[in-house]
Amino acid sequence: MANRSNMSEQLADFAQSKKVPDVMTTSQGQPIDSKTATMTFGPKGPVAMQDFIYTDEIAHFDRERIPERVVHAKGAGAFGYFEVTHDISRYCKAKVFGGVGKRTPIAVRFSTVGGESGSADTVRDPRGFAVKFYTEEGNWDLVGNNTPIFFIRDPILFPSFIHTQKRNPQTHAKDVDMFWDFISLRPETTHQVSFLFSDRGIPDGYRHMNGYGSHTFKLVNKDGSAVYCKFHYKTDQGIHNFSVDRAAVLAGSQPDYGITDLFEAIAKGDHPSWTVYIQVMTFTQAENFRWNPFDLTKVWPHSEFPLIPVGRMVLNRNPANYFAEVEQIAFSPAHMVPGIEPSPDKMLQGRLYSYSDTHRHRLGANYHQIPVNCPYATRTRNYQRDGPMCVDGNQGGAPNYYPNSFCGPLDHPSYALSKTTYSTADVKRYNTADDDNFSQVTLFWRNVLSEDEKRRLVRNIAGHLKDASEFIQQRAVRNFTQVDSEYGGGIAKLLQQYKSRVCRLTQGRIQGYSKIPAVKFSCEVQYTFVRTLCIIIVST
Ligand code: NDP
Repeated sequence: MANRSNMSEQLADFAQSKKVPDVMTTSQGQPIDSKTATMTFGPKGPVAMQDFIYTDEIAHFDRERIPERVVHAKGAGAFGYFEVTHDISRYCKAKVFGGVGKRTPIAVRFSTVGGESGSADTVRDPRGFAVKFYTEEGNWDLVGNNTPIFFIRDPILFPSFIHTQKRNPQTHAKDVDMFWDFISLRPETTHQVSFLFSDRGIPDGYRHMNGYGSHTFKLVNKDGSAVYCKFHYKTDQGIHNFSVDRAAVLAGSQPDYGITDLFEAIAKGDHPSWTVYIQVMTFTQAENFRWNPFDLTKVWPHSEFPLIPVGRMVLNRNPANYFAEVEQIAFSPAHMVPGIEPSPDKMLQGRLYSYSDTHRHRLGANYHQIPVNCPYATRTRNYQRDGPMCVDGNQGGAPNYYPNSFCGPLDHPSYALSKTTYSTADVKRYNTADDDNFSQVTLFWRNVLSEDEKRRLVRNIAGHLKDASEFIQQRAVRNFTQVDSEYGGGIAKLLQQYKSRVCRLTQGRIQGYSKIPAVKFSCEVQYTFVRTLCIIIVST
């Protein structure tokens, strides 16, 4: 049939591979006589309690949904491999980097962040970029984004920040005041907000964007020497983004654009790939760096910490079942392997706990037994037992306590974390609110963006900020002005134009409809009047 996509043909392909249908069964494997009628007392009912075929089906259906991820709910997944192209053993002993040509199987999940699992893919939002490496030393998860930085630098702010991206507690609508209030009160968000409203804020699907481990990590070599490190994935498809208008059309007509684009490309053999790099910083460089090298709102400049090529990541297999392999996949930055360790990065430290915790809630304490999460290139041998959905034999008759005298698995000091350089310090809550929030954004504005890109960035911000309360607009403009007066000034000018336009419209209406045309209101009063009117209309 003409113009049918690979996705559209999925069921026909299944039928082709199957040829003859199986006999239908209950969840217990008993054959079913009829799946189109309940068992009833007479043709008009009621339904017999003994109809296990019905209760078996409906009881399972009632439990089909697991908790949605509180962030990154909408996503697409795929599988493939990571191949080493350059030797980095002088930095890292992890076997995943063990020798040029070595391939490690991977699973990847891309996502939007703020929307629910049914939301549109072409929204302005960061994109999740999570990779699970199934290594022979256990699973290593690099759980990053399509930006090398993040909005905040202290994890205690994370729940509040995310709430501002979600829905108003009363109206249950997205609330532009919530967003810009938080953003303008926490100026460390300015760098990521500038990325978000730039062209890269709406990538063309998941294949045409870079990925970043974002945090600072620690790499350790076989001699125990350590360096700090950042991970980068550069797309081999080239960076492509959507214009605001095109994204809005697709959000209505093709809300699953990102999922479809990835699935179709892989299905037709056009396997997307990314070139993987690291940046490396010695401990001495870290001590003397002009910024906190563990601050997630900042990058490491390429000129001082050049990208070092490591390998290539290729996606060549679509999931066989979305729920089993994508909805249930559980990434955690805490899943590391010998040779890769956390840095002091506070945001990373916060996530080390939070991600595994959310999977225990979402999937259960044995989430690692779900096939897509299993460290299948090695074996789990420990003293964890039981719990809901224990399906892997529960480690049989092996002793369930340690130490023991009965040949249970042993720990080994060779797997100790590298010697750390932590010095003693006062335990207290360090306020980082003013930790140089603007100078890297200034570099981005002045050195990275072209004049056209600057114009679009200013227009995108003003087009969103215009709907926020005026005092919030002013506070946000003050922050952007600290980056560069041209940046803040451009936004202020556009906001003023929006305001004047509303004023002109209002004046037109007042003069057209009022029997007392002499009545004149100040521009501010009219603007506030129109905003209030809009809010009343929207919320009724
Ligand atoms: P470089 O000129 O070496 O790097 C600039 C980087 O900006 C490139 O990696 C480029 O990515 C990326 N870039 C271009 N347009 C955008 C955009 N709209 N949104 C996000 N990133 C974009 O300079 P420096 O390393 O000295 O960094 C200067 C500034 O560039 C930083 O302050 C930061 O704002 C930004 N930046 C830096 C990155 C880093 O890791 N050093 C990474 C991303 C941004 P590409 O190569 O794909 O075109």
